[in-house]
Amino acid sequence: MRIYKFGGTSLGSASRIKKVADIITAAVAEEKIIVVVSALHRVTDLLLESATRASVGDSSCRATLDELDHLHFSIVDELFIDAHRDDVLSIIRADLADLHNIVQGVFLLKELSEKSLAHILSFGERLSAKIVSGYLQVRQLSSFIVDARELIVTDNNYPDARVNAQASEQQIQKRLTNFDGVPVVTGFIAAAPDGTITTLGRGGSDYTASLLGAALSASEVWIWSDVDGFFSADPKRVHDARILPYITYAEAMELSHAGAKVLHPLAVQPAMKAGIPLLIKNSFNPAAKGTRIEQTTPPEMSRTLPVTGLTSINSVVLLNMSGSGMVGVPGIASRLFSCLAQYRINVIFISQASSEQSITLAIKPSQAAKAKKILEAIFAREIEARQIEPLLIRRNLAMIAVVGNNMSGHPGVSAQLFETLGKNGINVIAVAQGANEMNISLVVDSNDEDKALNCIHESFFLSQRKVHLFIAGTGTIAKSLIGQLSAHRVNLQKDNDLDVVVCGMANTRAMALNDCGIDLEHWQEALVTSATHQGIEGYIALIREMNLHNTIFVDCTASAVVAARYPDLLLANISVVTANKLGMAAPWPLYQSIREAQRKSNARFLYETNVGAGLPIINTLHDLKNSGDKIISIEGVLSGTLSFIFNELRKGGKFSEIVRRAQEAGYTEPDPRDDLSGADFARKFLILGRELGFTLEYSDVVCESLVPAEYRGEMPVPEFLERLSTIDTWYAQEIDNAGKEGMTIAYAGEIRDGVASIGVKRLPLNSPIAGLNGSENMVVFTTERYRATPLVVRGPGAGGEVTAGGVFADILRIASYLV
Ligand code: ASP
Ligand code: MG
Repeated sequence: MRIYKFGGTSLGSASRIKKVADIITAAVAEEKIIVVVSALHRVTDLLLESATRASVGDSSCRATLDELDHLHFSIVDELFIDAHRDDVLSIIRADLADLHNIVQGVFLLKELSEKSLAHILSFGERLSAKIVSGYLQVRQLSSFIVDARELIVTDNNYPDARVNAQASEQQIQKRLTNFDGVPVVTGFIAAAPDGTITTLGRGGSDYTASLLGAALSASEVWIWSDVDGFFSADPKRVHDARILPYITYAEAMELSHAGAKVLHPLAVQPAMKAGIPLLIKNSFNPAAKGTRIEQTTPPEMSRTLPVTGLTSINSVVLLNMSGSGMVGVPGIASRLFSCLAQYRINVIFISQASSEQSITLAIKPSQAAKAKKILEAIFAREIEARQIEPLLIRRNLAMIAVVGNNMSGHPGVSAQLFETLGKNGINVIAVAQGANEMNISLVVDSNDEDKALNCIHESFFLSQRKVHLFIAGTGTIAKSLIGQLSAHRVNLQKDNDLDVVVCGMANTRAMALNDCGIDLEHWQEALVTSATHQGIEGYIALIREMNLHNTIFVDCTASAVVAARYPDLLLANISVVTANKLGMAAPWPLYQSIREAQRKSNARFLYETNVGAGLPIINTLHDLKNSGDKIISIEGVLSGTLSFIFNELRKGGKFSEIVRRAQEAGYTEPDPRDDLSGADFARKFLILGRELGFTLEYSDVVCESLVPAEYRGEMPVPEFLERLSTIDTWYAQEIDNAGKEGMTIAYAGEIRDGVASIGVKRLPLNSPIAGLNGSENMVVFTTERYRATPLVVRGPGAGGEVTAGGVFADILRIASYLV
């Protein structure tokens, strides 16, 4: 014989009830079935609402009751015809009339005792059992109603009554050992020894089903609801959550106590004691296998993962009692807990450090004020004597539980857990783990709940890890980056188990956001302009609000406004990859606050492309420094335009003509003076100088401009190019003179002894810089280890593709740190 319990959502409408009847009809062909029903969908909530309203004299309690009437009548109307309909209607009308009278009484007296409340709540199941049993008869199944008041005996703690297991077992056996047809039992309700109605607490019909199964030695207890079973995490919060085909009783108990709504926490116990398997099934998807709960999981299913599942309770309050007077004083905890018990305050979580200086408890927010008052009264003497500090209450917290049989004796679980939380900047406020090692519970800020669940879930359950990118800027670099990301995404998934998801893109006018990922083939269409879009600032605010785990902000702009936000991003534990030089080359105070934020944060900050685009310059420098080499000097050419001009000059061209050619070939800024001034080049040397540890401002970089003073300012570009020929001979002579000494010239930068300078320099003909071609960049590191032959990095130092490639590589570096 099997017990089938149907929850409210399975009984949400006439068509749902028909599906339930199908399930029962199929089952009775195989085995005897006892059906346990909850109230119809929403009914218990409405009963509670009308009772609460009535108790304060709020006449809208009647409207709520009318809604209840309507809900039942309309289902009956749809489910039954003719004489059947009249029969069922008259039965439920009588019940509903009773209910109206009782609520009216509460309304008049403005008084709702727990006893009356349990009585009112019991109507839900009494009504639904009548409807379901009546409908089974329509379907030609002989069926009868069993009121659980005849079966389950409890104490008189009316709404949350405790079951007397022995007495209940006897009653159940007496009533249900021999029967024909399909009994439909009211879940949730029970009776005190004097016959008064009690209830088993919200969601209690699961418990009823399990008690029945245990007392009657059923072969299985099936709990039918609207989900496919226990999941590794709440699928509404964690998209990648997966169904758990098997879990143990102990795990089910831990998970349901810690917030998994699939099963009433008390329902496990009777089944476990009697060794009866519990199944969680979905009445909306009966073909799904569901979750099977037993003493042990089958050996072929034995999991290699230490963690079975995660759950959370999304609002708890922490009560913290501390004080020197607690140390080594026996009886404090006992007084604390017994008074909470006496006032029926349920403690969800306890933690005490070995110093015994403080005890932390988590309770429901609705009980916090009461608990505080009670404890302050009980410990008034100690508080007054300053042996115990005034109680501290902390709100807006969530409790997360990480559960698994296999965690026990498996080192590294908590290391992994706290590491992933730490890297995502999630602060753990309190922790508890019992010696059975089956459950690690932690309390975090409510804002971090989803993020914590997702990163823990990913860390323990998924072979493939995710990073979430938010790109700022939609220009050349961003476009190339999107192209590369979309071309390479599948390979990264396959070869690196990494999924790089672009969740946001924005420029100053438009924005696209999607936490599941923007379609990279059509990102332009996804960008929407809206009146409320507040530029990149607004974008950053939204990113922070989304609070996804493994988030990387990618700056592809050249905006000082964006660079100024790096400290905030880092402090919010969002890693930053930037191609924008205006952070690292910013005035010292901003530079310093970026560095400081970087030190404080667990997030990463990478900017390889700030110098020489994709060329490995910053990384090379860090590797040299970190491995103990001493850098004597850095020389280099870090402007493609200036590199081109001097490479051509050395071949014998005229300065002004070369500049003109470079401009025509698109190697220069629209106004070539922007390149010839050396400003951008100087910024890169400023960054290199700072990397070497020097306190430098932009103005400290000695920078020789190739634009004669009289040609700066407002002079139009063509006129400037025209006049430039006046200095051609100077360059020709310079090269000549240098040549006589076995030297040549180049526009290059240098850092030596803390001084950064850029300008036209003489170099030996065999200098690597003298051998540059086209618009190549080059950096020459002379170090203690690379003294005779310096270390040279050479290649294209600008362009969308190579810069985006460098940004991509930085993103992957951060990803491999995060996951
Ligand atoms: N109807 C009750 C409730 O909503 C019991 C149950 O559904 O299991 O809490
Ligand atoms: Mg339920």
